[in-house]
Amino acid sequence: MSGRFVVVGAGTMGLGIAYVAAGAGYAVELVEVDPERGAGAVRRVGELWERGVQRGKLTAEQATANRERVTLRAGLAEVAEGPDVIVEAVPERLDLKRSVLREAEARRPALLSSNTSSIPIAELADGLDRPADFLGLHFFNPVWAMALLEIVVGPATAAGTTEAAVALAGRLGKDPVVVRDMPGFATSRLGVTLGLEAIRMVADGVAAPADIDKAMVLGYRHPVGPLELTDLVGLDVRLDIARTLQAAYGDRFAPPPLLVEMVAAGKLGKKSGQGFYTWKGGVKQ
Ligand code: NAD
Repeated sequence: MSGRFVVVGAGTMGLGIAYVAAGAGYAVELVEVDPERGAGAVRRVGELWERGVQRGKLTAEQATANRERVTLRAGLAEVAEGPDVIVEAVPERLDLKRSVLREAEARRPALLSSNTSSIPIAELADGLDRPADFLGLHFFNPVWAMALLEIVVGPATAAGTTEAAVALAGRLGKDPVVVRDMPGFATSRLGVTLGLEAIRMVADGVAAPADIDKAMVLGYRHPVGPLELTDLVGLDVRLDIARTLQAAYGDRFAPPPLLVEMVAAGKLGKKSGQGFYTWKGGVKQ
């Protein structure tokens, strides 16, 4: 299978989406403005396939072919017109996303999408010439391990675009849910609620982070506790989402002061080595 798949932003999500798309046979262009992050992401996807070879999941030839299908680009201007798919995965900021999406639309993709966790698709579509071709493709972290793809249908999204997104989910090996365009969609609204309350509980001294997490894992059968999940997602990412949801639904989503303080102190979770837990070499201590 062939086709061209462009991912904008080679952060936590962008590299995972690039990995899955290349594994599904797409020629992937990974657009990243920070050269170090870009090079790091390409290295990381190579390591993931390497690990796959060691585990017997794919052959060394397949790993090489997958790696060769990923090309790093320094900007959208370097992307030729007419890709099948563009997924925008830059930080969760409306102005930044809008400007990236306008630039992405000018590359004339068949399907234009955003991996936003919480910003309404209608707001992101403002300023696009072809909002009918645009929707949300909300992947989950880590993209290679998480089966869910939340397809977010904006008010201007054409039915054919949604159908194309459902077909794309199948090709990428993902299981889709189609949701209406409401802030936080189905997943973030519920997941962030739990995360924010767990952070307030830490601040209140209800229990240690590990015990709050254990309570949800053993008591409610969650595969991972809300604080560890916050560390995995990134405290800065969760803070951005909380602020977006606060603007939409009011102060029930107001970020707890502890979250704001931790982000200001650079405690961003797994990616910075410190969050509610200490992380070394990507492993929780
Ligand atoms: P991240 O900060 O890890 O990565 C974003 C990347 O985009 C960075 O490498 C940054 O340099 C790059 N970037 C910024 N401006 C750019 C531009 N103009 N062109 C190209 N690259 C640019 O963020 P992330 O955690 O990968 O999140 C990306 C998006 O995915 C956000 O909208 C977030 O809400 C959403 N999301 C995140 C998660 C998660 O668990 N982290 C899960 C689902 C959805």
